[in-house]
Amino acid sequence: MGKVAIHPAVDHGVQQGTPGFSGGRLRCRCSSNQVEIQVDSQVAHNHACGCTKCWKPQNAVFSVVGVVPRDKVHVTAHGDKLSIVDSSATIQRHACTGCGVHMFGRIENTAHPFHGLDFIHTELSADAGWDGPVFAAFVSSVIESGTQPSEMAGIRARLSELNLPPYDCLSPALMDAISTHVAKSKGLLAA
Ligand SMILES: [Zn+2]
Ligand SMILES: [Zn+2]
Repeated sequence: MGKVAIHPAVDHGVQQGTPGFSGGRLRCRCSSNQVEIQVDSQVAHNHACGCTKCWKPQNAVFSVVGVVPRDKVHVTAHGDKLSIVDSSATIQRHACTGCGVHMFGRIENTAHPFHGLDFIHTELSADAGWDGPVFAAFVSSVIESGTQPSEMAGIRARLSELNLPPYDCLSPALMDAISTHVAKSKGLLAA
């Protein structure tokens, strides 16, 4: 039996980032007039995501997505091709209308715990040095995009083998960050 496929960027092992790497350029997959985004930051909390909303390449079971400060994200070419996939979603995913790739996702709700962070897919960059994924989020949700429930044990085992601890929500660090934000907004914790 072959290995369980997760995503082309991790199926042959997870890439480690380069110390001191400070960002690079993302390009969409159009054959011409590519949308270009300059990101002046290393990616954080990069992870495999099983949700149905994140962009992923064809045939991938998971997306790979991470965050960077939104003020480090700049559209540098063909921004006129970008369109928001669903403006009512918490994360507004700015996609290329030519090829469908999501160039960045942005949260406009200033009360949201992750406001100020943009979501990006480092596989759209030819620059080497990005930190690879460090966990897997919303793993159970891959069933909602057609994965058989009977495949889940194999998928979780493969994620663990790749050192991507599988969670059915976000990682403990991010869940703690969300709850800390909520507690601060209730006055239970010092802001
Ligand atoms: Zn495109
Ligand atoms: Zn997702």
